[in-house]
Amino acid sequence: MGARTGKEYLERLSRHSPEVWIGGERITDVTKHPATAPAARELARLYDLQHRDDVRDFMLFPSPTTGEPVSTQFLLPRTHEDLLKRRKMHKLWADATFGLMGRTTDFIGAMLTAWCASARFFGESADRVRAYFAYVRDNDLFLTHALADPPVDRSKPPHAQPDPFTYLGVVRETEDGLIVRGAKMLATAGPYADEILVWPFSLRRYTPEDARYAIAFAIPTDSPGLRFICREPYGGTDIFDHPLGSRFDEMDAVAVFDDVLVPWERVFINQDWERVNRIWEINSNAFTGHQTSIRLLSKLQFIAGLAYRGTQMVQTDQFPHVRDAIGEITTYIELTKAAIIASETEAQPNEDGILFPNVRPLFAIRNSGNRWYPRVRELLQLIFAGSLLYTPARADAFASPIREDIDKYMRAAEASAEERAKLFKVAYDLAVSSFGGRHELYERFYAGDPMFLRINTQYLLYDFSEPLKLLDDLLSSYSLQDALNQLRGGVA
Ligand SMILES: Cc1cc2nc3c(=O)[nH]c(=O)nc-3n(C[C@H](O)[C@H](O)[C@H](O)COP(=O)(O)OP(=O)(O)OC[C@H]3O[C@@H](n4cnc5c(N)ncnc54)[C@H](O)[C@@H]3O)c2cc1C
Repeated sequence: MGARTGKEYLERLSRHSPEVWIGGERITDVTKHPATAPAARELARLYDLQHRDDVRDFMLFPSPTTGEPVSTQFLLPRTHEDLLKRRKMHKLWADATFGLMGRTTDFIGAMLTAWCASARFFGESADRVRAYFAYVRDNDLFLTHALADPPVDRSKPPHAQPDPFTYLGVVRETEDGLIVRGAKMLATAGPYADEILVWPFSLRRYTPEDARYAIAFAIPTDSPGLRFICREPYGGTDIFDHPLGSRFDEMDAVAVFDDVLVPWERVFINQDWERVNRIWEINSNAFTGHQTSIRLLSKLQFIAGLAYRGTQMVQTDQFPHVRDAIGEITTYIELTKAAIIASETEAQPNEDGILFPNVRPLFAIRNSGNRWYPRVRELLQLIFAGSLLYTPARADAFASPIREDIDKYMRAAEASAEERAKLFKVAYDLAVSSFGGRHELYERFYAGDPMFLRINTQYLLYDFSEPLKLLDDLLSSYSLQDALNQLRGGVA
């Protein structure tokens, strides 16, 4: 098969539609339903993009098994050029969605690249992981992932939840594989995915009593017994009034597993509580952090453009604090760029010669992005203020008897009312709407709890040898005796 086109992606998704619920309605084909079809089309556009003549050289590479062109998201990098190729691939897709789709499939593509490169971690399942990676790559499949457990009782470990199968766990082993039951959250893009990847991601360490929940696997999203319960959709609205929500609602869903069969060849960790406690050894953040930083970069750049143009329109760009606010956003852009480049420049090969970007600067961006983004949204509110609501409710106002009022009062110094409404509705969708609120929540939490993430990566796992060396250099350069000698007028 190799790299798919948009049409091939949509046709497969339509044929293998997962069981998707929005409220009490079962969506039989997400490629056709008004709430979900627009985002499916945006995702299809990304598949088409990879075949464009001017980008094929970095979007695709020959599969080592079939020789067919496959997506660069699955390229195991061995040289700095390979890493640059990966960067360009991620950036093209992120720019095409303005950084507004966090779980385009190159996120999991990056994750699986790390899993394959670190396949030894999986012990006797290592070959299953390698085979699965090759299968996904050669069929260009779209993956979602769901790791967190249902927030039923966070004070208790998995085995002590009110129902033993609240958290996803193994019911029994059969000749064909594992039967699993329970729920996982949040499968962003779940309704649009061909496959779902699952493993435990918890603030708690697993114990022997939690063994049945210590599982990692991947299965098709249309597996019998698997269903996705979606949050409120933003898609299905009109493009002028909700220019972002109407197109880029990637959807978040709870994945419910109702005695689902996981075939043995898809079981990567089986009830191994010790192994899930060490899953960070895979170092998948080196690849996913590369993708998420690049995606954040696109989003910040897009927002900086919006802030710059919008404030020019109404001439608030004259004011120093408005310039300072926009300067804050561009500062984040440059820091993000620098971290991406640093991660590539300081990449290190593993024992098989596969280059892992340096995860340190990427963690720094994760640990900043989750705080920067709410601030950026606040900055949009501060610089645009009432302008965010100074547009007619719906596009049809422009074709109504009040058009004259709108043209007169809702114009801007530098733009007609129509141009102003077009731009400020984008700003509204980011700074005010439900879609914008969900984005803030996403940036805060998509990589886990912000506080624990920073404690773990910037403190517990941080290498303090250089900071401590500097401190020791100073402390060892003088002594109490030196000071006493000085006070006594002696030689220091
Ligand atoms: C928009 C969005 C999209 C997402 N997409 C995905 C996805 O695609 N795939 C995926 O797997 N996950 C996804 N997630 C889930 C994400 O990984 C979790 O939201 C994140 O890990 C935080 O977990 P939680 O939401 O269960 O919060 P909780 O763990 O319930 O935390 C709530 C609060 O309680 C505190 N707390 C909880 N437990 C403890 C503890 N043991 N000790 C001290 N304090 C504690 C936390 O610090 C936090 O302040 C998404 C989340 C959002 C919001």
